[in-house]
Amino acid sequence: MSNDEKAGCGCLCGAIRFEVDPTAVVSTNHCHCSDCQKSTGSAFATVVIIPEAAFGLQSGEARSYPVMGSSGQSVTRSFCPDCGSPLWSEVEVLPGFRFVKAGAFDDASWLEPTSSYWGDSAQPWAPPAEGLPVHAHNPT
Ligand SMILES: [Zn+2]
Ligand SMILES: [Zn+2]
Repeated sequence: MSNDEKAGCGCLCGAIRFEVDPTAVVSTNHCHCSDCQKSTGSAFATVVIIPEAAFGLQSGEARSYPVMGSSGQSVTRSFCPDCGSPLWSEVEVLPGFRFVKAGAFDDASWLEPTSSYWGDSAQPWAPPAEGLPVHAHNPT
């Protein structure tokens, strides 16, 4: 694959840069779980699921914070240690994939969210997106 097919991604300060093969995106979903609300500082996270092989770190070193997910298996959330931008997560229940935050993409306009997770904990002032299927918790 050539460079111009890659989607550039990074944190707010630019210390961490990575690229993603946009053709490898499995799906894009909104997550309204309380952990995503805490870690994004907002009402929900929009996460882009990609196979690890489609992810290429170019510069910087993320810090990671592992938490026990509601499933009882760990979720490791990676972020920039300098500016604090949440960047991607690795989830024990789905090894071999990365959940990249949509906000990390330099151009996120082409993403197509297909569902919402954790609709049960969505804030009343930021309900799940209209017209998309809503899972009460995780989809499985
Ligand atoms: Zn940064
Ligand atoms: Zn979540």
